[in-house]
Amino acid sequence: MDFADFAARAAAIEGESADLETIGLVADLFGDAGEDLGAVARFVQGRIVPAHDDTKLDVGPTLCYEALARAAGRNVSAADVEAELAAVGEIGAVAESLDLGGQRGLEAFGDGTPDPLTVAEVQRTLRSIATASGGGSTDTKRNTLFGLFNRAEPLEARYLARLVLGEMRIGVGEGTVRDAVAEAFEASTEAVERALQVSNDCGVVARTAREDGEAGLSAIRLRVGRPVKAMLAQTGTAIEAIESWGDAAVETKFDGVRVQIHYDGETPRLFSRNLEDVTDSLPEVVDAVERSIDVPAILDGEVVAVDPDGTPLPFQEVLRRFRRKHDVAAAREDVAVELHAFDCLHVDGEDLLDTPLERRHERLRERLPDAAVDLTVSDDPDAIADLESEALSKGHEGIMLKNPESTYTPGKRGQNWLKRKPDVETLDLVVTGAEWGEGRRANLFGTFVVSVRTDDGYEPVGKVATGITDGELETLHERLEPHVRSETGTEVDIEPAVVFEVGYEEIQRSPTYGSGYALRFPRFVGIREDKSPADADSLERLRRLYS
Ligand code: AMP
Repeated sequence: MDFADFAARAAAIEGESADLETIGLVADLFGDAGEDLGAVARFVQGRIVPAHDDTKLDVGPTLCYEALARAAGRNVSAADVEAELAAVGEIGAVAESLDLGGQRGLEAFGDGTPDPLTVAEVQRTLRSIATASGGGSTDTKRNTLFGLFNRAEPLEARYLARLVLGEMRIGVGEGTVRDAVAEAFEASTEAVERALQVSNDCGVVARTAREDGEAGLSAIRLRVGRPVKAMLAQTGTAIEAIESWGDAAVETKFDGVRVQIHYDGETPRLFSRNLEDVTDSLPEVVDAVERSIDVPAILDGEVVAVDPDGTPLPFQEVLRRFRRKHDVAAAREDVAVELHAFDCLHVDGEDLLDTPLERRHERLRERLPDAAVDLTVSDDPDAIADLESEALSKGHEGIMLKNPESTYTPGKRGQNWLKRKPDVETLDLVVTGAEWGEGRRANLFGTFVVSVRTDDGYEPVGKVATGITDGELETLHERLEPHVRSETGTEVDIEPAVVFEVGYEEIQRSPTYGSGYALRFPRFVGIREDKSPADADSLERLRRLYS
């Protein structure tokens, strides 16, 4: 498929606001994508690799502006691109407005007209940018990007720039892709959804649906080494759990970071909740798995930092492990970590997603007796309250209540896992802006604009300026500065990258913020390094909490 065709379809999809029509347009696009179906299914969501693959393009805004400016000719600088972005607010519109290809002569052959860009070529080229590393790779990336922009027509440039910066924003999320695959290739939504959960790869699912129909979709299996999304929890009470399920399976809720363990029988690989490979940061977990398991397996659990007596340390401590990537040995001496495994998705060739929780837990215990969490099944609220007090007194975060009969549903925040924490008045929000501080904090950001996730972007719910120590302000500044998109006066526009946990007293309706809500007394609790903007709390959740 020509990239121009893809761009024209993307523009039509972006211009359509009705959900059903959007699904129809995406389904038509999938139907016409031919060999490029996999790439197209990813591109509409702004992805260049499957969701299970943590390869990053690693092109910051500045590099993209530089490549655009170069393709726009001698009279345009990266600063001009940035200024235009501040004025129009969106990189696609900026790229579309530039007169690109001023230096086409440098790239072109024959009659001076370059071949049209194709989807396959854009995909190949962006992947080559993603894998470029080592000395000189920044120049290579800039040159390669320039080569693409230099050949792009205005509409192509619009979607290319957005793809490069991971901001496709044509209103197509995973739900739309699921429905469009179902419509285009006449499969049931359930079958497509399940295949997406199991493979975490919309390209594979779209191709399978087209070529092998529902039978093919249901034959898709978990694969060791290909992480799936983590099953998620809602908040709830013991009474709710018992009323819904009769019995509740109770486990300690550990305050650490989620890991998914993939063991192929020889080497374990560990993935974070964002599906990044974190194997090298957690050697003791690797050792523990190698010591205990002798068959291929996929396990789910939490890694917690502990002091020398084994007492759990706050969540922030375990994060030090991930920050000190290059000095894991020193970090290991600094903070010890422990694995608490709570689920088992696959053992020795057998997928267990559809096996009830209690049975999965038995399989886990057989394979990893030392690290498997205790699970108590109870229908007595008092007994559950005792388990909660015990967990809290040992320094843990609280308890999890799980439906003993439930299957494992990757990526779902369903009703089958409930978290009971004493303090639930916090939200995980994305930082999308900041304001410079005043007085002795004048060279640091002092106030942070925090946003909830919406279907196609982020909308602010408040500004956070309290609860932050001077030391933390410096850390936050360093963390956010690389993500600055533009500045106007004292206000700074920041690309969504960092998630804050924000405490608050109340949610109010508000015309001031784009979300329509405002948090009363928002205060900074911490950075959620384990979450990406896609995991932040949604506008829908905010609405529910409000009502
Ligand atoms: P939250 O991050 O507040 O949404 O709480 C859900 C998280 O608690 C999960 O994603 C896990 O990282 C963590 N967790 C700790 N202990 C457990 C457990 N026993 N079962 C499931 N999740 C747990």
